Amino acid sequence: MKTTDIERFRLQLLKLCQRTRPEIERMRETVLHGEHAIGEHDQGVSESLAKEAYLENNEEEIHRAAFTALHRLEAGTFGICQSCGCEIPRARLVAIPFTPYCVSCEAEREL
Ligand SMILES: [Zn+2]
Repeated sequence: MKTTDIERFRLQLLKLCQRTRPEIERMRETVLHGEHAIGEHDQGVSESLAKEAYLENNEEEIHRAAFTALHRLEAGTFGICQSCGCEIPRARLVAIPFTPYCVSCEAEREL
């Protein structure tokens, strides 16, 4: 991988790490705050809470993935599929810089 690419991905991943942190804090607050409303309100409240919790998990997942991807970048294994060891196509990394898998391994895991 070219040095310019590595720098580009490093910046992208750092931004993702920083962006997802405050998002998680904000959602956690919403979820905690919302807890007081349970019991008083109808199902709509718990539904939106479930949605928030789902979003939080998702953001946390992205944060974790971006974090470990940064580690792989430092270790020099960034862009290598963590499952089969092949090189992840650059276009895929541009779209999802934190992905640890190539397209076919990702598809297999989702089955
Ligand atoms: Zn693979």
